[in-house]
Amino acid sequence: MLIDSHTHIGHILYPVGKNRVFDLPAEQLIGAMDKYSVDRVLVSGIEGAEFDSSMNLAPASMQVRQLDAFRRQVDFARTNKGRVGVLLWVKPYTETVNGDLEQFITSNRDCIAGFKMHPALSNTAFNDVRFQPYLELADRLNMPVQVHTEKDGLSDPSYVAEAAAAFPDLDFVMVHMGLGTDNLEAINIIRDNANIYGDTCEVEIDNVFKAVEVCGSEKILFGTDAVVHGTDTYKRYQALIEALRSRLNKKDADNILYANCLRLFG
Ligand SMILES: [Zn+2]
Repeated sequence: MLIDSHTHIGHILYPVGKNRVFDLPAEQLIGAMDKYSVDRVLVSGIEGAEFDSSMNLAPASMQVRQLDAFRRQVDFARTNKGRVGVLLWVKPYTETVNGDLEQFITSNRDCIAGFKMHPALSNTAFNDVRFQPYLELADRLNMPVQVHTEKDGLSDPSYVAEAAAAFPDLDFVMVHMGLGTDNLEAINIIRDNANIYGDTCEVEIDNVFKAVEVCGSEKILFGTDAVVHGTDTYKRYQALIEALRSRLNKKDADNILYANCLRLFG
């Protein structure tokens, strides 16, 4: 069994992120899963990006509203039942929590696994008050939060540690474990906080093993950012998958490759 806890689909009118993506077809993700034997995924929609690749706020006319994007992703999950769970990529800069959102979540809880928060693409520090209502909602509904982490003054691993201390019953997954760093700060934070986990996305193989050694195999989840680098995003992770299966015992490898994700996100 293989579960990718970190994938993206969606279509927006402006390029987002360092990879300048704007069109990640849902069918392409399913095709990649089939091609590389990925059994299940957690997916979030790039429509959640409020700022473009040049870090300009996208005009209101081009933004996709949270609920519109979430409806599309839930539809996608429903047509691929058993293979896809949705992470709701929230928009704290241009929107907030309201009754409609909470109602939508509770009536589609069977397809929704948790939240995605991306401080960099919301140009909002993770310890900014604008994330607060979303964290309170996640805590109330008992839905884990996947957070983009990077040492950029917005998505710093230390901000996730602050949130994890403020919400001790809420689980956080620091994806990338501090993108562009040696991952050590993030690894130490994961070790020191029972409710913080890490993922393997864009992390060097040696650092994945370092994280497992320091934090334990139950704290690290397999994640890839597919299909940001196309159908063959998974090609980049074949060496990691093989290394995990050959160098760890079965229980530890299974934890990372699917069991932690199942346990955390249901
Ligand atoms: Zn991502």
